[in-house]
Order: sequence, then C-alpha cells, then structure tokens
Amino acid sequence: MDLLATHARSKGGQDDIFNYGQIARAREAEVGKEAIINATVGAFLDDNGALKTFRTVEEAMAAVPFNRLANYAPIDGLPQFVTHMTDHVLRGQRPTAYIGGIATPGGTGGLHSAFYNYLERGEACLAGTPCWSNYTTLLSETGRTLITFDLFNGAGTFNLAACEAACRDVATRQRNVMLVLNTPAHNPTGYALSEGEWQGLMAMLRAIADNGTNNVILVLDVAYIDYAAPEDRQFFSHFADLPENFLVIVCASASKSFTLYGFRLGLMIAIAQSQQVLDAFIKANNATARATWSNGSRPAMETLITIFEEPKRHRAFLAEQQAFAEKLHNRARSFTQEAAAAGLKLVPYRSGFFIYIPTADHNEAVALVEAVRAHEIYVVPLGDGVRIAICAIADHKIQGMATVFAEALQAIRSKE
Ligand code: PLP
Repeated sequence: MDLLATHARSKGGQDDIFNYGQIARAREAEVGKEAIINATVGAFLDDNGALKTFRTVEEAMAAVPFNRLANYAPIDGLPQFVTHMTDHVLRGQRPTAYIGGIATPGGTGGLHSAFYNYLERGEACLAGTPCWSNYTTLLSETGRTLITFDLFNGAGTFNLAACEAACRDVATRQRNVMLVLNTPAHNPTGYALSEGEWQGLMAMLRAIADNGTNNVILVLDVAYIDYAAPEDRQFFSHFADLPENFLVIVCASASKSFTLYGFRLGLMIAIAQSQQVLDAFIKANNATARATWSNGSRPAMETLITIFEEPKRHRAFLAEQQAFAEKLHNRARSFTQEAAAAGLKLVPYRSGFFIYIPTADHNEAVALVEAVRAHEIYVVPLGDGVRIAICAIADHKIQGMATVFAEALQAIRSKE
C-alpha cells in the first residue's frame, strides 16, 4: 500500500556513493581496516582511519556554558557569527557591494534556499559535470531540475563554451539564469577556476545580465574553500560593480572547515548590488529557514564566535587548520606525482578532498572500480570517471595506488 503523496513516491533510495561505501565497509569488517584502502569516504580521516577533528574547535565548544549552547539561535543566525564567518570566507577579497548573510544548516541548507527562492517551480539550475550529486536531489525536492554541461573541455580546463551554450539556452525559457559552481577545491576533481577562466565566465554572465530580459544568479558552493590556496579566493573581487540584476550567493560550510560535519552549520552570503536586493534576500531566506529547519545550530555558532573573538584561539585554530590542509596536500601530491610518472591522466587537481580519474564513459569507470578492487582498493565511479577520496587514505597507503589504477586502465583499454 502506498501512503505517500504522489510527488514523494519515486524519490529516495541509496545513491552510488553510499552503495560503493557499503561494499568497502563490508570488506573492512571481513579483513580489517588496515588490509584495504577505503577511498570512498568524503571526510578527512587520520592515518589510523579515525575522523580527524580539530582540538582547537573541541576546546572552544567546551568553553561555552551549556545553557548558552542549548538555547535557540535567532533565525538569521547570531549576528557575530554572520559577521565573522563572512570575513572568514571573503578574507582580504571582500568586494565593494551590499553583503549580508543568514545562517543555514551546512552548505546544504544554503543551496536549498538559493534553489527554492531564486527559481520558479519547474525551472532549471545549471551545473558542470562531474558535480556533487546532491544538487539534483536538492532541486527535485522542490520541483526544480538540474541541467548539466561538461565542466571540462578537451584540454582539461573549464569549458566556457559549453557553459555559455547552456546558459544561453536556459535564458530563452526562464527569467533567472542560475549557475551553481563548486570552486575552489571542487568535489569530485579538486579543480579550481583560474583567474583567466573567471574573467571569461564573468564577461559571459554579465552579457546575459545586460540583455534586458534575464537576471543572473551565480550560486557559489565553497564548502571546501579553506583547503584551497590563498590566491584561489581572489575571484571574490570580481563581484563588485555588477549590474543590479546579477546576484552572487555564496554557500559556505563549517563542516569541513571546522570539522563540525554533524553540527550542521553554514552561512549563505549574498553579494548584492543594491540594498533592496540584499533586503529581499534576507527576508525570503529567513522565511524559508523558519518554514524548514527554523533556526540553525547554536552550539556550532557559539563555538565559531569563541574562536573568532579570542585572538589566541583564532591563531591556534588557523595553525591547526593549516597543518591539516598541508597533510591533505601532501597526500594528493604523492598520488598525483606517481600518476604523472605512471602516465595516468587526472583532471587537474589543485586542492580539496578528492582526485578524479576521467574515463571514456561510465561503464569504463565501473570496470576500473571493479578492477582495482582485486588490489583491495575501494573507490566510487561517478559519471564518466572515478572519484578517489584522498582525504580518507592514510599516508602510508598512497604509494603504489596510482600505478595500480594506471595498469588496470591500460588492461581494460587493451581488451576493448
Ligand atoms: N557542496 C559539496 C560539493 C559537498 O561535497 C558538500 C558536502 O559533502 C556540501 C556542499 C555541503 O556540505 P554540508 O551541508 O555538510 O555543509
């Protein structure tokens, strides 16, 4: 008997990442963690396979009295959190614009509100593939859709031509042209748009905003920004002096940046070109918050305020985060250097939790995942490629991995 409303009947079920993770977990239970390489997990694990958390964050949370942690937060978020987190995200690259933010449950909450409040029911958001599969789920939940284009061109760089074609096509059917872009430290490739690519993208989007018919809503998913190089924040400076109908929404997250995954905190930042656009953003997103999760995680907000407002803690936190970013980078460097020597082609990696091996198609990706399993390596096929969660692999397990992938891919291709 199906008691669900009609719109709810076909949704849900486990996705590929979960299913492939399950295979790895089952094998771990059989032979032990040390005997396999489980690169399916999207969180940073230490070299013993335990979730890495920041001591400075744990101490800051412990310093806040329980009756403060336990209280409700204002719907927009505690004002000090909004101010400090905005500064933390934009750093020295704050553009001259009307900037404001509202707390969300993780980056996910901000994406939900952006999709819901800036697209009509039935309209589409654009994203380059490969991309985070949850965009589709978030959009379909409220009757919106995702239209994709190839994120990379033949040279392995940002495919501006495909992005422009998709934007111009959607512009003929809907007023708001919305593009969601996960940069820097892109999931699942580790890519970041270069300054030249940003210039090309902004010129293209500006032309659409200036066409007299459309508005542009650029949604920037920066969930992994704290693991990118400092120069990979320079793109924020492009968001000054835009037309009023060009809104940038930055969805930031405390999950990876502060290792507060389960505390569910993010910040949705508007970079608007008028007070009116900013006020409308706050009003609508406040209403969405009230109607969905109500208010955000006060324990996480209080913790971040404690860090941001005590210079000693703040310095210690930044040092701890930096050491962690370097560890991630070292793991990735070990893999990418070996890949280069073994002739294994990767999507250019700059930073982030994942490395991506492009394949001819999805079938080849599945074949590669299955082939490396014979070497006790567990990864996820995503679109036309394989995602390797470098964040989850102990340093001592990385050596030799890229060679296994290179040889397995060669064997698959020689059979075709
Ligand atoms: N964006 C990307 C690309 C992600 O991979 C994730 C989490 O895995 C998020 C956004 C949102 O994470 P959270 O809601 O925990 O902030």
